[in-house]
Amino acid sequence: MRTERLTPTLVRVVLGGPGLDGFRSADGTDAYVNVAIPPAGAPYGAVFDPRALREAGLPREQLPARRRYTVRSWDADARELAIDFVVHGDAGVAGPWAASAEPGDVLVFEGPASGYRPDPAAAWHLMLGDESALPAVAASLEALPTDATAVVRLVCDGPEHEVPLSAPAGTDLVWLHRTHDDERDAALLLEATRALEWPDGTVHAFVHGEAEEIRAVRRHLLLDRGLERSEMSCSPYWRRTMTDEAWRSVKRDFVAAMDAEVA
Ligand SMILES: Cc1cc2nc3c(=O)[nH]c(=O)nc-3n(C[C@H](O)[C@H](O)[C@H](O)COP(=O)(O)OP(=O)(O)OC[C@H]3O[C@@H](n4cnc5c(N)ncnc54)[C@H](O)[C@@H]3O)c2cc1C
Repeated sequence: MRTERLTPTLVRVVLGGPGLDGFRSADGTDAYVNVAIPPAGAPYGAVFDPRALREAGLPREQLPARRRYTVRSWDADARELAIDFVVHGDAGVAGPWAASAEPGDVLVFEGPASGYRPDPAAAWHLMLGDESALPAVAASLEALPTDATAVVRLVCDGPEHEVPLSAPAGTDLVWLHRTHDDERDAALLLEATRALEWPDGTVHAFVHGEAEEIRAVRRHLLLDRGLERSEMSCSPYWRRTMTDEAWRSVKRDFVAAMDAEVA
């Protein structure tokens, strides 16, 4: 339907039309869909069934690239679904697709599914991540009651990359700006989490973003802060230097190793 540049590196794509007639939102506030973006010159039309294509035995290079994206919002009355894409330069498939998307373009996706919703029984909520987790964090903050306590730390490239968030008044939100020193930037989220003054009572945490950063924060939360696994939703959304294809091929082992180090 339309696109909107939210920040220099974040593009909102609003989908609509009769293709969304069957769409049902998921329970969680981190609902995600699997988008399928065909390569140039694909021998099938703009609208296709990704599962049928997978089973059709097409050469790998003709299959659509699969990427996972959060449903930033779903407006059933207007039949509009918004996805916020990080555009990280010219690299990748989905980022460039979103950067050049125009009204009338088609995006095929499967889903949604979800895994997290802030637990109303928790005394406070911790949300940590980068721009890729921002859509889920934003949707989660919107779902909190007005008297909830939330502590939010979000990594981004600088002040012009911050987006206004609708959150309970008691939200402690700090944007962490990258310095473009890779080693320092990779430690920003962990350092900020280490420095947190811990509110009293049980916490429910949402920790998503770059794989190594998430792994370090998770280790800190479990080992140093004494969180139970059941008190957090934690997953590595993407991995620095790897395409999503490369990342998916090692993700299972990475997650197993991540689990084993705090067994
Ligand atoms: C459940 C789930 C929900 C997600 N929701 C969102 C979302 O709402 N919005 C969103 O933007 N992403 C989201 N992601 C992450 C997104 O799927 C990945 O970032 C994906 O790799 C982007 O694909 P691409 O084709 O643009 O780049 P790729 O082809 O996968 O990668 C190309 C290069 O870009 C780098 N790269 C990939 N992602 C980023 C990034 N975010 N910042 C900087 N460099 C990057 C890679 O390391 C690689 O070097 C989500 C992931 C999961 C698992």
